[in-house]
Amino acid sequence: MIGEDITQNLKTIPSIPQKLNRPLTVEVRGECYMPKDSFMRLNERREAEGQPVFANPRNAAAGSLRQLDSRVTADRKLSTFMYNVADFDPIDARTQSDMLLELTSLGFTTNPTNRVAESLDDVFAFITEYTGKRDDLPYGIDGIVIKVNSLPRQRALGATVKDPRWEIAYKFPPEEAQTIVRDIEWTVGRTGVVTPTAVMDPVQLAGTTVARASLHNPDYLVEKDIRVGDTVLLHKAGDIIPEISNFVAAKRDPNSAPYVIPTHCPSCGAELVHLDDEVALRCINPKCPAQLAEQLNHFASRNAMNIDGLGPRIIKQLFEKAYVTDVADLYRLTFDQLVTLDKFGEKSATNLLTAIDNSRDNSLERLLLGLGIRHVGAKAGRLLAAEFGDIDALMAADEESIAAIASVGDTIADSVVTYFENADVQTLIDELKTLGVNMTYTGAPAEPANADGFFNGKRVVLTGKLTQMSRPEATEWLEAQAPRSLAAFLKKRTC
Ligand SMILES: [Zn+2]
Repeated sequence: MIGEDITQNLKTIPSIPQKLNRPLTVEVRGECYMPKDSFMRLNERREAEGQPVFANPRNAAAGSLRQLDSRVTADRKLSTFMYNVADFDPIDARTQSDMLLELTSLGFTTNPTNRVAESLDDVFAFITEYTGKRDDLPYGIDGIVIKVNSLPRQRALGATVKDPRWEIAYKFPPEEAQTIVRDIEWTVGRTGVVTPTAVMDPVQLAGTTVARASLHNPDYLVEKDIRVGDTVLLHKAGDIIPEISNFVAAKRDPNSAPYVIPTHCPSCGAELVHLDDEVALRCINPKCPAQLAEQLNHFASRNAMNIDGLGPRIIKQLFEKAYVTDVADLYRLTFDQLVTLDKFGEKSATNLLTAIDNSRDNSLERLLLGLGIRHVGAKAGRLLAAEFGDIDALMAADEESIAAIASVGDTIADSVVTYFENADVQTLIDELKTLGVNMTYTGAPAEPANADGFFNGKRVVLTGKLTQMSRPEATEWLEAQAPRSLAAFLKKRTC
């Protein structure tokens, strides 16, 4: 009733029996995981195929279970441990440990490292033991669960609204690693924000090699007092993103001085500023090459104009050779220019020109996203494009009429109006029009105003006899209430 039905996928996991060793009706609970070696092989294969790799086995396992095609799940080499039953009555056991034995005898797989502890000292001894053995296990763990062994006592203790009173999890402290900061790099983003990144000697941390960690902004860097040459402690925030916890005071060179925050843009040399009360440091030079290159990257990216083959390496060269200074120049590139690029043959040049040419026909929302208007992401871009239909109508709109669109607030409205008031932007739009870039919305009609409505995210099944309207009428009415994805779903499912 809630969530996704993954029964077919679970049936492909070998550790789940297709048939119990004896007939019994029982609801079993457990956990599905991806063993470390399955995870490594999966990511190696994905990397070789040019597909994005999974951040960790947990994400990979979850993603594998939600496949529409069970064969994909089967191929992912998942495994399971069962650890509980919903109702003890059909099970011949009075303790947790006997229950696990019962589950095993029925054909399920249970975690073989479980152990009955006679005292709290035993519990702590187990924790110490597995803190040491943790990395040697064939699967990742983040802690140990301690349970009351007697099932009648479990039942007597019951549960609070949130948790059972008879079990508790011990969580390992986050993994840490030590390494040395060799440099602090400043990169200029698309909007001019200049961000520091610590560049470090590569070190293994919770399953990956880490050599860089963001220091977010100057305030953060000053507060942490990270210096070049420091030995630092690293951990992973949310088990994924490497972060510097602290420098190791005992290992700091006594002659080292606090890091000096740059005052000028590493790309164009313009003076850096703090806008309003922002912690971020910005380059506000509109001609800053680093910013322009990032804007072009964004313009060409998959969700925006989707220009295949126009990556950062090519864009860097286009700037160096002064073939482009803004996005309009992309549409003026010639074959003769492109073949002069490093490692760029005639075929690549033709393909890139075709990709650029195809992008002229994109629906307006892609252009809106590609322009990089502050606060206008893919969703807002689509709403604006669908509502106004073409760019002239959008440019002529006032804040009030933009903010009136559902889920487009004052912030976006203000940002859009400010953006199009800029004379340089108006010139750019005119140039793009002249160069044949489509300025109209060619996608599906506007989503209904009530995107947060009653039917949003719900599955609707029409069945039985309807008294007030025919089934096709009901379908049509539902589709009008529903966002596009649901409408498509309904179209497939109703009969
Ligand atoms: Zn700059």
